[in-house]
Parts: sequence; structure tokens; C-alpha cells
Amino acid sequence: MPDTTIGFIGLGNMGMPMARRLVESGHTVRGFDANATALEVLASHGGVAGGDVTEVADCADVLILMLPNSDIVEKVLIDEGVAQHVSPEALIVDMSSSVPGRTRALAETLEDKYQVRLIDAPVSGGVKGAVAGTLTIMVGGDDAAVKEAEPVLQILGRMVRTGAVASGHALKALNNLLSATHLLVTSEAMHIGRRFGIDTEVMLDAINGASGRIGSTENKWPNFVVSETYDSGFALQLMLKDMRIAQQLAREVNLSVPLTDRSVELWSAAAQELSPTADHTEIARWSGLR
Ligand code: NAD
Repeated sequence: MPDTTIGFIGLGNMGMPMARRLVESGHTVRGFDANATALEVLASHGGVAGGDVTEVADCADVLILMLPNSDIVEKVLIDEGVAQHVSPEALIVDMSSSVPGRTRALAETLEDKYQVRLIDAPVSGGVKGAVAGTLTIMVGGDDAAVKEAEPVLQILGRMVRTGAVASGHALKALNNLLSATHLLVTSEAMHIGRRFGIDTEVMLDAINGASGRIGSTENKWPNFVVSETYDSGFALQLMLKDMRIAQQLAREVNLSVPLTDRSVELWSAAAQELSPTADHTEIARWSGLR
């Protein structure tokens, strides 16, 4: 669908590079963000700055949301009137990392009350993946609706079908529970090794060729911790939000998860002690100061 008009709400660290890829692929992208500077940046890259969320909704064949959380997704769709403005033929794709139970309820409300369809398509791969179009996109929803979204989503990365609506959001939270927990335990191991006197680069080199190898040793420690830049572009608060979603899922399926509980507790402590805008990779520095 080369002349699909894509509405894009939420032009932050992830949304902006995703919207830019869609513009570069030849689509008309009409975007909106609460931050006026983001709208100027979108326009400077060939997108169209929308006046508000309803104006973006009015023109969209596919309406993508890349917002911080379920509260804001619901506020935009229901309270700010987007649901009333989206045409019944259009499709809403929530690519934010939202709460699965709330996504399921929202999809039902949109269908029953507004005759609008919603699928969930959260992503992993970070800002780097958003820029390169190499995100892993976990897609939940009705087959026909997902098929319609495919030409747009394929520009952003690799789609993995997860099942019914909200299953993408569930899997995304579980992925981030893993990502966060292994970043923390990697950091503990690295600080133990440093205090014992082993060189950081030597540890990473050895572990990356050994059984302890993981995303945190291959990517996060070398790129954001050793460099002391702590600038991955994914906020610690957003990571903690996802971990809490995963923890809540465990409660809902009645599974005891002591390691998850401890990990959430430690990330919560870091969130209280660090700046509200801290990058999630700052957990590595924080864990070495305890
Ligand atoms: P961000 O905070 O950088 O961007 C969110 C954007 O939403 C901001 O530009 C903000 O101004 C805008 N916004 C907030 N409320 C709004 C409203 N009511 N109306 C319009 N715009 C509004 O966050 P991000 O890092 O881009 O993350 C977005 C989503 O993607 C989150 O759900 C996050 O958990 C998820 N995610 C982030 C990453 C990452 O590496 N940053 C990776 C995967 C998934």
C-alpha cells in the first residue's frame, strides 16, 4: 500500500526514527506529539505535523501509537476523541509497551462502541533498531487486521505473530523482564570481577565467548556502561513499568515468581534513588555503588 496515509502519535526516542523510516519508504506520515519540537523535527524530515490527535486520526488509514504507557494510550484514544475520529476502515496499531489486560479491554471497547479495530505490535531492538528498521515486532490480533498492517510493519522490522490481541504486549513485558534481570545480574558479576582485580575488557571478551554471554554483555555493557555514556535512549522508568507488567501477569496466571519479585524490588529501589529521567543502563552503575 504505497500511498497509505499513516497517522503517528508519539514521536519520542522510538517513535521519531520509526516515523522517519515510514516517510523515507514513500508513505505520507501525519504525526502528533505533545512536544512541539518533535513536530518540527518530523516536518523537517518530510512528515506532516498534525495540529492535534483528532486531526491525525481523521486522515489515517493506519494509526500507529508509540506512547509511554496504557494510561496515555487510553487518554488519547478515548478521552481525547481519537476513537470517534478514526474511520471504520482504518486500523489502530498500538506499538507502545502497554498492559495486556487493558489492551484487551480497550480493543473490545473500540470494537463495540466505535466499530474501530486495534492490534498490538510492541517492539524490541531499541533506538538503534528503530533507526535501522530491524526491530522485532510482537504482533497480537485478528489475522485479517494483522495482514492489513503487514506492509507498514515490515518497513520497521521483523514481525512475530504472538496470537490474539494483547499477546504481543504480554510477550514484550516478559522480554523486558529478562532483559532487565540479566542486565542487573551481569552488572553484579562485573562489579565482583572488577573488585577482585580482573580487567573489564578481559571479562567481557571471555564471557562473550563463554556460556554467560547475553545481550547485556554483548551490547549494553560495552556500548553504554564501559563508555560511561548511559545513553541507550530507553528510560529506567519505562523498563520498570514493563517489569511490573510482567510481575502482574505472573499474579494473574497464579505463578509464584520469587526471582522476578526480587528483580522488580531492586529496579524500584534504583528508580527511587536515580534521576526520574535516568537511562535504564544506569542500573549498572547503581549496582556497583551498593
Ligand atoms: P519517549 O518518552 O521517548 O516518547 C514518548 C513520546 O510520547 C514523547 O515524545 C511524549 O512527548 C509523547 N507523549 C506523551 N504523552 C502524549 C500525549 N498525551 N499525546 C501525544 N504525545 C504524547 O518514549 P520511547 O522511549 O519512545 O518509548 C515509547 C514506547 O515504546 C514506550 O511504551 C516504551 O516502553 C516502548 N519502547 C521503548 C524502547 C526504547 O528503547 N526507548 C524500546 C522498545 C519499546
